[in-house]
Amino acid sequence: MECKTNILLIYTGGTIGMVKDYKSGALVAFNFDELLKNIPELRQLKCKIDTFSFEKPIDSSNMNPSHWVSIAEVIEEHYDKYDGFVILHGSDTMSYTGSALSYMLENLRKPVILTGSQLPIGDLRTDAKENLITAIEIATLKEGDEPAIQEVGLYFEYKLYRANRTTKISAEHFEAFTSLNYPELAESGVHLKINKDDVFRIFHGDSFNVHKKLDDNVAILKIFPGLNHNVLKGILEIPGLKAIILETYGAGNASTEEWFVNDVKKAIKKGIHIINVTQCSGGSVSMGKYETSQELQEMQVINGKDITTEAAITKAMYILGHDKYHGEFKKYFESSMRGEMH
Ligand code: ASP
Repeated sequence: MECKTNILLIYTGGTIGMVKDYKSGALVAFNFDELLKNIPELRQLKCKIDTFSFEKPIDSSNMNPSHWVSIAEVIEEHYDKYDGFVILHGSDTMSYTGSALSYMLENLRKPVILTGSQLPIGDLRTDAKENLITAIEIATLKEGDEPAIQEVGLYFEYKLYRANRTTKISAEHFEAFTSLNYPELAESGVHLKINKDDVFRIFHGDSFNVHKKLDDNVAILKIFPGLNHNVLKGILEIPGLKAIILETYGAGNASTEEWFVNDVKKAIKKGIHIINVTQCSGGSVSMGKYETSQELQEMQVINGKDITTEAAITKAMYILGHDKYHGEFKKYFESSMRGEMH
């Protein structure tokens, strides 16, 4: 069978790449060079699959921006040669990696699909094979002459999501991810159905560009009843801090106590960007709706709208890392760059 589509499978680590060593009973890394030998079903896909393994595969709890740069560099280096990319990644921080890559890979016109699994690929009841096979199949899909998916997606348990809209919601169930504020891009059932109205498209001719600078002088602060003044002050006074994702209640509400409001005001005056994101899994910040968010609106706290915390923290790193956005953090943060917010 002639192979017209070339897919690069990038293995970064995580449960998906593990098999049981039956002698010792321990989980050991799967040899991805022998992928086709171990998963013969892949031969049924009309594509050629090459593999690229990170020298030291990691549990995704050890992911950091330097790994995101490494992944982006692999894609940059092989962008012209391959029709699509599938990244095997631990599920724990997959939504962060997917979000970061969505900003870093500017003018992406090919599929970059992250997937992983809850059970190792060598386990009897594994979800790894289905996730891997379908993620690769999605990366090969065409819409006319063009790739059907031209963005960073996350495939898990029969659903393809926009990666920067996802959150890991279960450490137990095969359905480990959700995207409460944006519909699935595709669903795998008897048919593999792409939701054409919801996929991301670029309507200008600018060429693919990889951004590698991320600024990690950022923090996430989830507020809670009982957050005391000292703790807040300590966080806002972290040396070098440039942005805080403030996870507020409901539609973007926070305490109206004087010390809270004054400290946030002082931080903004100092130049720290404060971004209001809801700690609810779904829905949007709507500043000014309640009295408890009016003050935040008046002091120019940034509206995170319906963005996830994962997409917000990586967006802050990306915007801060790029001179072209300098001085206009609020304007850029509040507009959708890669379909991460409404
Ligand atoms: N701890 C693992 C990781 O994120 C879990 C998984 O692979 O799903 O790397």
